[in-house]
Amino acid sequence: MIPYGRQTISEADIQAVVEVLRSDFLTQGPAVPAFESAVANYCGAQYACAVNSATSALHIACLALGVGKGDRVWTSPITFVASANCALYCGATIDFVDIDPVTYNLSVERLEEKLVQAEATTKLPKALICVHLCGQPCDMKAIHALAKQYGFKIIEDASHAIGGTYGGEPIGSGRYSDISVFSFHPVKIITTGEGGMALTNNPELAKCMERLRSHGITRDTDEMTHAPDGPWYYQQIDLGFNYRMTDMQAALGLSQMQRLTEFVTKRHAVAECYDKLLAGLPVITPAQHSDSYSALHLYVIRLQLNAINSTHREVFDSLRAEGIGVNLHYIPVYRQPYYESLGFKAGQCPEAEQYYAEAISLPMYPGLTELQQNQVVAALKKAVAV
Ligand SMILES: *Cc1c(COP(=O)(O)O)cnc(C)c1O
Repeated sequence: MIPYGRQTISEADIQAVVEVLRSDFLTQGPAVPAFESAVANYCGAQYACAVNSATSALHIACLALGVGKGDRVWTSPITFVASANCALYCGATIDFVDIDPVTYNLSVERLEEKLVQAEATTKLPKALICVHLCGQPCDMKAIHALAKQYGFKIIEDASHAIGGTYGGEPIGSGRYSDISVFSFHPVKIITTGEGGMALTNNPELAKCMERLRSHGITRDTDEMTHAPDGPWYYQQIDLGFNYRMTDMQAALGLSQMQRLTEFVTKRHAVAECYDKLLAGLPVITPAQHSDSYSALHLYVIRLQLNAINSTHREVFDSLRAEGIGVNLHYIPVYRQPYYESLGFKAGQCPEAEQYYAEAISLPMYPGLTELQQNQVVAALKKAVAV
């Protein structure tokens, strides 16, 4: 089976992890801050907080922004469930803004309509989590302008997007948002096995997230309610978690960072090859907006079902039967049974549902060969043959 995504691990990556295993610190050692600095410097952000997953990063990002009971958070329906769950962890409510039919990111037009309605009923959101689907950035300038106008915070769920740029600046720079979050799951752009990171330019948010990832504990005397009892002393001043990244993970991440540009360049070569091979087939290939450079985490095609005799499901099954590990990113979040139990119903976001009825993620990762891409497209041709 050719998977839809997979990690690229070098001998240098392995050596980096082995070195940590032979060192004094497996966790809370020097590799974590070194990895944080490398990512922050690459992105042009001031502060970085490494954690054990992007899910954890989204959770502490929401908490740091003060998201809690009675607050509303909005996100895109076409995302991994974690982008929405983080709001619920905080006791807030979640709602969804339908997607743009070309980029599949949340639609700025739909967002604006929803904000106008929400203002009229005094139900404006506290925060918006915008997801850079497949690595393609959202329309951040427009979203940022709406955030200023309507007074909400912005978290970029950039789980797909490290290594990309928007308006000539790296994703994660924080120019148009409060906090950006990366995932280092093995299918993502760079990996730490499991892991994530939250970036910000706000020192208060950075300090708060740093505390929350480690039980809400501080060793900074300025944050304590009184002078330390002694050298052993620390204070718990928030209710935090153990969301820490280990040094083995950070060493792997730091080593992977050195090949980030190479990985994204390779993903672009894979996408260009698909664009050529798929020309003339009854599928819509990914649109790339001219304001940005995508990290190309995913290569999603949409089937032109009116030009194909098979159903979406049949095409998908046929590809899997040919050993092509296609996938579908994503099921609209609000169609999950848990979300339906909260009252969400089919039909809420028609563009998202249309997308779900047509989308297929083809294999996309730096190690994918041209031969494998030819196999993928041959299987697709067979699957859509009239
Ligand atoms: C992968 C992913 C996450 C969760 O990342 P983890 O590191 O696995 O917690 C969140 N949001 C999006 C959009 C993702 O793709």
